[in-house]
Amino acid sequence: MPAQLLDRPERRLPAAPRLWIPKHVLVTRAAADLPHTAEILRRVEAAGVDDVRILPADRLPTAPKGESEREAYARAKATMAVVVAPPSALKPQPIPPSADWRLDLARGCPAHCQYCYLAGSLSGAPITRVHANLDEVLAPIASLTGTGSVTTGDALRGGEGTTFELSCYTDPLGIEHLTGSLAAAIAQVGTGRHGDGASLRFTTKFDAVEPLLALPHGGRTRIRFSLNAAEVERFEGGTARMPARIEALRRVAEAGYPVGLTIAPVMPVDGWQESYGRLLDDVAAALAGIPALDLTAEVITHRFTPSSKQVLEGWYPRTKLEMDESVRSVKRSKFGGVKYVYPKGTMADLRSWFEREVPGRVPGARLLYST
Ligand code: SF4
Repeated sequence: MPAQLLDRPERRLPAAPRLWIPKHVLVTRAAADLPHTAEILRRVEAAGVDDVRILPADRLPTAPKGESEREAYARAKATMAVVVAPPSALKPQPIPPSADWRLDLARGCPAHCQYCYLAGSLSGAPITRVHANLDEVLAPIASLTGTGSVTTGDALRGGEGTTFELSCYTDPLGIEHLTGSLAAAIAQVGTGRHGDGASLRFTTKFDAVEPLLALPHGGRTRIRFSLNAAEVERFEGGTARMPARIEALRRVAEAGYPVGLTIAPVMPVDGWQESYGRLLDDVAAALAGIPALDLTAEVITHRFTPSSKQVLEGWYPRTKLEMDESVRSVKRSKFGGVKYVYPKGTMADLRSWFEREVPGRVPGARLLYST
């Protein structure tokens, strides 16, 4: 038990997290004989999955004829595929402002958030594809560390070195009980296997942190929890409830991990100041008294693109999520892409509120950015 736990008041044991168990597991031919696949299949069997198929090829099967969009979505979301990460997942990509570089332990996520960031950015059926060639996925850590970066110079991140984001295309904690990839990455970086000067970071809406607590993390992985107001949480199907995420945040902070709040997607719901104020107060109460707390915060407002809206409306035809272009402002990327964000005045109100209230209500929190 970490020393700092000894002098803290006793707390009730957290309820066991609800873990995602896929109905179907597919293993591509190229992934079948890799050592990490054996570990994944051991976990899949222990989880009680009956339908495990080794495919004769590397292509995942397409949807059966006549299947509706809803049925295809439900089947894909209940499927995990063990695959070799494609070249696009192995090619280093800078991803400011979140981190210097992206690493993909997997692509896809078992949760059902009606605003999901992956809609429109990942093509094909929303199967959770976990990467079996873990050594290749993690290899860029050694080659890119110290090569210069996009965020290292940020004074608020001093000491983190070159940062690698693990949650661009998945929620790595939501599938960790089936893969073990996250723990392997944390321990490898924590013990300097890829050299010094690298840090990992990921964001999660899950709470199964127990297997991470005793890892030799060396303070080199920042675990951020995606948190939101209760009015937005109702759009986050299949994830851990907010109190469970906040409890998990407390537990990893007590285990000495640097931690973070990813407050996203922020929505100006009725009474948003009170709702987000309550959330920040709950976080402050959970983290009170944790010694040497290292806490960052990132605030990201809701946005959507024409393609993400089209995909999400197919997946969640009855959603109450507001995606109305007529009440939004258009933001164009330098490559001509279009995003719909909140109007300027709303963005300014949200930004100034979070810039004041995050450090004001949560002692020690360093706001990295608000966008
Ligand atoms: Fe998408 Fe993240 Fe929700 Fe998973 S947890 S469904 S990646 S928004």
